[in-house]
Amino acid sequence: MKETATIIHSSEERKLIRNAYRRLLRSIKAPLNKEDAVNIRKAYDLAVEAHAKQKRKSGEPYILHPIEVARICVAEIGLGPTAIVCALLHDVVEDTEVGLEEIEDQFGIKIAKIVDGLTKLDGSNNADSAQAENFKKVLSTLVEDVRVVLIKMADRLHNMRTLGHVPPHKQLKVAAETSYIYAPLAHRLGLYQIKTEFEDLCMKITDSETYRKIEKKLKSSEKARKRYINEFMAPIVKGLDDTEIIFRFTGRPKSIYSISNKIKTKQVDFEEIYDLFAVRIIIDVPPKMEKPICWQVYSIITDYYQPIPERLKDWITVPKSNGYESLHTTVIGPKGRYVEVQIRSERMDEIAEKGFAAHWKYKGVQSSDDVYDDWLHGIREILEDQGADAIEFINDFKTNLFQEEVYVYTPKGDMKVMPKGATALDFAFSIHTDIGYHAKAIKVNNKLVPMGYKLENGDQLSVITSKNQKPNEGWIKWVITGKAKGKIRSAMNEERKKKGSLGKEALERKLRNLKLNFEENIDAFIRHFGYKVRVDLYYAIAQNEINLSDLKNFTIEKGKISFAEPDIEPKPTPSAPKRIRKKAVNGQSLLLINGESADQYDYSFATCCNPVQGDEVFAYLTATAGLKIHRTICPNAEHLAANYGYRIMKAEWASTSSREFVTELLISGIDDGPGVIERLSREVSDLGLDIRSFHIDGMQGYFEAKVSLLVNNKNQLNIAIRKLEQLSNVSRVKRNN
Ligand code: MN
Repeated sequence: MKETATIIHSSEERKLIRNAYRRLLRSIKAPLNKEDAVNIRKAYDLAVEAHAKQKRKSGEPYILHPIEVARICVAEIGLGPTAIVCALLHDVVEDTEVGLEEIEDQFGIKIAKIVDGLTKLDGSNNADSAQAENFKKVLSTLVEDVRVVLIKMADRLHNMRTLGHVPPHKQLKVAAETSYIYAPLAHRLGLYQIKTEFEDLCMKITDSETYRKIEKKLKSSEKARKRYINEFMAPIVKGLDDTEIIFRFTGRPKSIYSISNKIKTKQVDFEEIYDLFAVRIIIDVPPKMEKPICWQVYSIITDYYQPIPERLKDWITVPKSNGYESLHTTVIGPKGRYVEVQIRSERMDEIAEKGFAAHWKYKGVQSSDDVYDDWLHGIREILEDQGADAIEFINDFKTNLFQEEVYVYTPKGDMKVMPKGATALDFAFSIHTDIGYHAKAIKVNNKLVPMGYKLENGDQLSVITSKNQKPNEGWIKWVITGKAKGKIRSAMNEERKKKGSLGKEALERKLRNLKLNFEENIDAFIRHFGYKVRVDLYYAIAQNEINLSDLKNFTIEKGKISFAEPDIEPKPTPSAPKRIRKKAVNGQSLLLINGESADQYDYSFATCCNPVQGDEVFAYLTATAGLKIHRTICPNAEHLAANYGYRIMKAEWASTSSREFVTELLISGIDDGPGVIERLSREVSDLGLDIRSFHIDGMQGYFEAKVSLLVNNKNQLNIAIRKLEQLSNVSRVKRNN
């Protein structure tokens, strides 16, 4: 069989494959035992043969992908031989003739299970939530074996790195999925480097213009930055050299994505960001000496530079819940500039960069007080909440497990870590389900608060319970944690079941009157009234939402009831847009959708992001309103593409037209006295563009204006923005979304 593979691949391809495999083997630093070495070779041979006929989108042999995924697992995540074998085999079951049984036969049950976890579900019959179902599957296996998710990360990373060969609208879908789930998951698993790369790669796709701009500015300011860092470090290096401490330092700039975020949220220009980079001092000491020596380094730094006390973060005494340990401080460096300094040991640095796997390496698998335990426990709880469908599950997962945290205390002073945004009632449920169920009132720092009170760092909570208290529907609104939601839902279901039994009795009576067997006909009733499960039908009957006495339009044949047509039509799931065959205007259409004239479809421009001609855009097939054209950086794009990727279609501008687009600008600046408003409105009208609306607010020496304009294309818009930016008093002009 091996010959088949070698015949299919050309000699050049064989060389590529061999080199990739050698590169993988070289990346393995720890010595391999015989069995592992044999297994890796076996997996490689099997994968080469199985994928022999496949090519990647780039035209390269497919096998290069699993080999590179395996290499990322070793070199960038720090995984071992089992993961290498699984990574080599990860696409075999999904894409080739080889079945899971064969994998189990050859490599054993453990590896077969991981490979199964890495195999996508067949989502063809449930398109609406196929993506979500797949995430759910990946996350379910995560609690059994974390390696599944780590290999999945490596898989995604390689796919993202090589996304250039995929058509743009598909890139968008993959990027959205990545920033929606994989990047936060990488963050949560402490895979800092991978998270950062994900974010940058996504931004390159969704907002390439800004990405390139920042990239260029980083490059051109590199020399000056290096000079500054050396100047800053000079006295510290001297101070450290006087001690016995072995150390190294780096001064890398922050990621393009995080810089762009700062520019957006802080409303500043690139040049005004004071913490473009962080200086990292990494010490090489035995574990016992880590903490005192980190503080000694801190002391040396602050001998030379004034620290800013609020910015001191001690993640060594209390590590972050993803395992991150480091001592951070910000000091005032030369020229009065703020400089963030991170002090950590080599061990902490490896955990910070590689996360989960490195964490296990140092802790050992047996460790009981592990920072990941609570988290994995949280995932299990969300998975147990059967009431939630897959999309809801992903949302729960995101709100619960990706969030930053708040630290609160029990009356006895025990610390509890809750996700940010969690409420007093969430806290009650986190202590014990019964305390949640019977919570009557909750005190924060000795004052009564509403159940939905949002927890803040340092809050001390006590819960007053009462036996007679029980949850009601309204409680769901007051909680955000998966545990509390699941528990409240299951209590509500109990309640529904109890009430529903009355409805069931009524239905049984009705069927007896019609001389129908209950079990044989119940499903017809459920379908007719548009429910999914029996309880819901019983409950609706009990609540008089359904009146059985005016049942009509049915026939009974051979003891079976059938209804004329269902009362409730199933929700339509669009799969392709309806063609309306409108004639193209002037023979040329403005937009192309999947390469065809958009004029044959019913389409409109989304008002959430107001695209203008020239923006990067995509089309989204809505359930009822035809196609909507969004900008790729629309705040809704990520959610749409991550959950409903199959509804995304490629859209591109085909021609320039005289069509006008509505766009909104936010202008802010200094209100230095009377006349500013008049001057600005005059200057806006001087732009020569149609103004739809103009609104300006002045406050305490500052003004903010919102201008709605009509433009033909992006070029015209950019010129207008530039002109406005040049006005004295104006400090910032940007598109509103
Ligand atoms: Mn793959």
